[in-house]
Amino acid sequence: MRVVLASQNRHKLKELQAILSQYGIEVVLQSELGICVDVEETGQTFEENSMIKAKAVMESCCLPTIADDSGLVVNALGGAPGVHSARYGGKACKTDLDRTKLLLKAMDGMEDRTASFVCVITFLLPNGKAFVAKGSCDGLITNEIIGSGGFGYDPVFYVPQEHCTLAELPEDRKNEISHRANALRALAEQLEKEQFNDYQ
Ligand code: IMP
Repeated sequence: MRVVLASQNRHKLKELQAILSQYGIEVVLQSELGICVDVEETGQTFEENSMIKAKAVMESCCLPTIADDSGLVVNALGGAPGVHSARYGGKACKTDLDRTKLLLKAMDGMEDRTASFVCVITFLLPNGKAFVAKGSCDGLITNEIIGSGGFGYDPVFYVPQEHCTLAELPEDRKNEISHRANALRALAEQLEKEQFNDYQ
């Protein structure tokens, strides 16, 4: 089965392909099929946004589609930046570094530094059947930027069991413990339970 990934991100493609190939699923980027749907993420939850993205692409190509939505949830900030992680700070923040610095400022003097990265993956079939899987990765927001790897908020996200920030962690290790990896594992479990290989 060929599945369209509602994203332009080749890293996500690689991660998804590695897991889903065992179910006879070949994942292709929407751009490879000439699909240029770019929807506004108007949902209030990661679940809603990943479904919005999956639906928009599926409606334009009538093929099974997979989409994800992710972000950083900081407890002391009432869950912010959450679904707004990519747009935190609005137009005043143009880069990941701007957004990360804004987060550190918002957390200044706060004692509760607990936070989680969250990822929701929606796998939507043309018959309306949807598999929705969630994964998270728990950590603490640092007081300063530490490390130069990764992207987004990685340099301020400390993972206690790894004794470093995500920006200091080798990429392949991040891909084992990340919210996306955990969501993918949860998706794989669902496909296993449904004996997805028999669908095809
Ligand atoms: P999206 O799911 O691709 O829309 O990403 C949402 C935003 O959440 C990104 O732009 C980043 O700011 C943040 N984010 C999601 N995953 C990660 C991660 O693994 N590390 C750092 N930031 C992340």
